[in-house]
Amino acid sequence: MKQLVQTSKATLGRLPFYYRTLNSLAEKGRSHVSSRELGSLMRIDPAQVRRDLSSIGEFGKAGIGYSVPDVLDVLEQILGLRNRTEAVLVGVGRLGAALCRYPGFEKYGLRIVGLFDSDPSKIGTKLDGLPILDVAEVPHVVRRLAIQMGIVTVPGDAAQAVTDLLVSAGIIAIWNFAPVSVRVPPGVFVRDEDLAAGLSHLSRHLSGASGHSEQESRTRRGT
Ligand code: NAD
Repeated sequence: MKQLVQTSKATLGRLPFYYRTLNSLAEKGRSHVSSRELGSLMRIDPAQVRRDLSSIGEFGKAGIGYSVPDVLDVLEQILGLRNRTEAVLVGVGRLGAALCRYPGFEKYGLRIVGLFDSDPSKIGTKLDGLPILDVAEVPHVVRRLAIQMGIVTVPGDAAQAVTDLLVSAGIIAIWNFAPVSVRVPPGVFVRDEDLAAGLSHLSRHLSGASGHSEQESRTRRGT
């Protein structure tokens, strides 16, 4: 695999979208794709596609285009999709249950293996066959299964305590959906997910406050 030393942050941010687009082409049985078609599917400039892909490998052949399986192969390595990641999820409410039920994460190597909640009416029940355990069981389960990722889908006022519990159990990657910034010690990585932030971009656009075209907006957010 080519060294990623010259790959910009914006390019890295676009890689998951290349992966998603190429995957759907592969599912349709396509073996090759041109930068023009890829650019059109992703709504980015074909020259940008060529720059991005040349920064991660040498795939393109004049007149033939990019080999879809070859690019997918390298993207899987770069994005770490071959590393199976097992995670626990705390807060099995509307969002937590939806995330747990979403089958698409499997493709990205993520498997949710433990569900936790503090609501006595949920503890002991099952969600799609997976038992919902008392949140007090987190340290025990995380240590026993050597889990490294925790998904936080509790209300904001519980997020820090839940994060502290996960980190003290050995979790080193937190996918936080609660609308607060949680503090973690060095060595622990937090990814805050906020759909409302995306919505505010759209709202700003609708209210006419944004002068950016759709193309520019996609480029700015790295897609
Ligand atoms: P919900 O009320 O349906 O579910 C929250 C769950 O957390 C409940 O089952 C509750 O019993 C459990 N819980 C509460 N305190 C807990 C604790 N200390 N330990 C373990 N479990 C606990 O809420 P929801 O609609 O699913 O939203 C969940 C969180 O996700 C909220 O913080 C919400 O703001 C956030 N959210 C974020 C996004 C986003 O874009 N990031 C979108 C929707 C919701």
